[in-house]
Amino acid sequence: MGTKGRTIVSMDVERLVDLLRRAYSDEWLAYYQYWVGAKVVRGPNKEAAIQELIQHATDELAHATLLATRIIQLGGVPVTKPQEWYSLSNCGYAAPDDPFVLNVLDQNILGEQCAITSYNTLLALTRDGDPVTYNIVLGILQQEVEHEEDLQALREDIEVMLKGRTE
Ligand code: FE
Ligand code: FE
Ligand code: MG
Repeated sequence: MGTKGRTIVSMDVERLVDLLRRAYSDEWLAYYQYWVGAKVVRGPNKEAAIQELIQHATDELAHATLLATRIIQLGGVPVTKPQEWYSLSNCGYAAPDDPFVLNVLDQNILGEQCAITSYNTLLALTRDGDPVTYNIVLGILQQEVEHEEDLQALREDIEVMLKGRTE
């Protein structure tokens, strides 16, 4: 990062980079969970689910890009080995081994809820110490909130459809 840019960060930069690398690992795992979920998902309203999963995968990858850029600006290095994603991750990875659409949606809803909690924590930690990171995290958090709502709304639609069929 530029020398002046660094002086306006009033929190521990090493700690901040560590937190950002954890969030970065989460984003790659979330990206892949959505990406592979879109490939394997089965069941009613599958086409709508695939569209949503692909869109969210794209968004998670964009979050990873934003975090990598900020990590580098702060003098850090993004995680270079995928095997480290698991140990650094806050939210982990849920394999869509049961590809039924409601299961895949539930796994991703849990992932979004974890992301919301973890970005909200990061937001509180950067509020006073690093306005630039704060702004990036706020933008990501806004999208995670949207993601959760999109998935829950889709889940509701599918449940209504399934109920209608059995009545
Ligand atoms: Fe994300
Ligand atoms: Fe998300
Ligand atoms: Mg969406």
